[in-house]
Amino acid sequence: MEANEATAKIMQANWQRVQEQVAEACIKVAREPSEVRIVGVSKYVGPELAAQLIDAGCRDLGENRPQHLWELHDYSAARNVNKAALAEVTWHMIGHLQRNKLRRTLPMIGCLHSLDSLKLATAVSAEAVLIGKRLPVLIEVNITNDREKTGLSPEQLPSLLEQLDCLPLLQVQGLMAMSSLGADANQARREFEQVRDLRDRLQTLVGQLRLGQLSMGQLSMGMSGDFAEAIAAGATIVRIGTHLWEGIL
Ligand SMILES: *Cc1c(COP(=O)(O)O)cnc(C)c1O
Repeated sequence: MEANEATAKIMQANWQRVQEQVAEACIKVAREPSEVRIVGVSKYVGPELAAQLIDAGCRDLGENRPQHLWELHDYSAARNVNKAALAEVTWHMIGHLQRNKLRRTLPMIGCLHSLDSLKLATAVSAEAVLIGKRLPVLIEVNITNDREKTGLSPEQLPSLLEQLDCLPLLQVQGLMAMSSLGADANQARREFEQVRDLRDRLQTLVGQLRLGQLSMGQLSMGMSGDFAEAIAAGATIVRIGTHLWEGIL
């Protein structure tokens, strides 16, 4: 669909509804809605529609493909409206980041959710040093060790964290995870709880590391189909796509 006044209205209603749904999910489990940040995932639409999500009030935008992120970032910057809002936007890279896409991506983003190897971490740190930028990152964990899924296995994390502790300007802030494909609500909740428990164990380890520059406070988990389960399990960031584009896609 083309971006126009009608889609702008739909976006506003969708953004309001998603915020309400997330707040309800928080209240249901006695959490403060302000504890959970919503990343609006724009991967289903072109930059014109995605920019309307900024107009609607969303200030955290996520893309899973570097090229999409660049396109949306550059389009928004070139647009001559809502500059003040744009200045408040944090861009999140939520999908696999190839090392050859790093140079162009790093200056744009405020958080990398998908750190999935020491190789990538080393490259991110080197690039961060080059441009003098501290980058918040989350480690993507494949909690069920599913072959079909991306992310590191839980067993790999303790030794990885020790190595990450030594990398300058790489600011590890927590974990990112997805529930298994086809998981029902109960299974999704159990998997998210496993991620949280893993995080709790790693928090102790992180406190003992030499430089102590890592933290484990953030849990990026939950999408349109399972954000309530993720919030019940302790998510601090949910990544919502589909629900935001209802009536548009
Ligand atoms: C697409 C995507 C989302 C959003 O998923 P929806 O089900 O559309 O809400 C969240 N996280 C990642 C990593 C994604 O690729």
